[in-house]
Amino acid sequence: MKPAPFAYHRARDVDGAVRLLAGLGDDAKAVAGGQSLVAMMNYRLARPRHLVDIARIRELDRMQRDASGGLRIGALTTHHTVERDEQALLGREFAVLRRAMEWVGHLPIRTRGTVGGSLAHADATAEWCLLALVLRAELLVRGPRGTRSVPAADFFHGYYTSDLAPDELLVEIHFPRPAPHAALTEFAERRGDFGLVVAAVDLDVVDGTVHGGRVGLGGVAAAVVRVPEAEDVLAAGGSFADCAAAAAAAVDPPDDPAYRRHLVRTLVRRACEEAVTA
Ligand code: FAD
Repeated sequence: MKPAPFAYHRARDVDGAVRLLAGLGDDAKAVAGGQSLVAMMNYRLARPRHLVDIARIRELDRMQRDASGGLRIGALTTHHTVERDEQALLGREFAVLRRAMEWVGHLPIRTRGTVGGSLAHADATAEWCLLALVLRAELLVRGPRGTRSVPAADFFHGYYTSDLAPDELLVEIHFPRPAPHAALTEFAERRGDFGLVVAAVDLDVVDGTVHGGRVGLGGVAAAVVRVPEAEDVLAAGGSFADCAAAAAAAVDPPDDPAYRRHLVRTLVRRACEEAVTA
């Protein structure tokens, strides 16, 4: 299949991209790595009349640690840049991000696909969406009305739907606190496929003891979700097995519910075990 006809526009900086998106209206879409949008256009699931190419906005291709130990990743950073971590920025505190990248598609997809594109696409099984939620990230959004910061908990609205307005650009994801005891794991039918279920945890560990943590799942609802029932078990000092059982009991997946609950139980426990030994 080939896409429906569209006009191509290249933005050179963030302000220019926002101006183009605002001026072209709801029929315009930003394109970054094109790894999701172009496929959707080829299947005619998306028919934007204008594409605003943001791929060459260099200011959005960056990773840096901030003074308080957090991490900022520009929207155009590719999955593979994070995976390679050439400047050794991630350290033990954000090793979970590097390790999680091996689950994202195949190498050619990771070399073109971007962190911002993944978050904006808001797939309910996307690793970046789940990591943003569980690590309590803030998403920086720029539009004609200025810049705003959106907590990941408020960003993902449902199936492929986010808090972004059509004339807004996601510019950065900010992980405000280190996550040395975080892990993400998943089950996919074939290596490189999207996961059927994805589980991530970020545990609070002091002197080798788990005092609580965040538990999140992808593939069990219209968007990535946190599971307070499983987090309560961790906060009460319960076992990883009980935490995983609570997660499985709490979710109500729309497809293959019994199978996905089984995966939830296995994957949450596995993620917890990986997180304490990380
Ligand atoms: P694009 O395709 O360019 O854009 C996607 C959407 O985001 C569009 O709606 C676009 O308008 C919008 N957008 C892009 N950037 C911005 C921005 N900065 N601000 C506002 N809107 C923006 N992903 C996973 O997470 N896990 C997987 O296992 C996985 N497997 C894959 C397997 C295959 C075979 C393929 C083809 C893709 C797979 N992907 C997977 C998707 C991949 O991660 C994409 O790179 C990602 O979803 C989108 O990033 P992109 O830069 O290519 O975005």
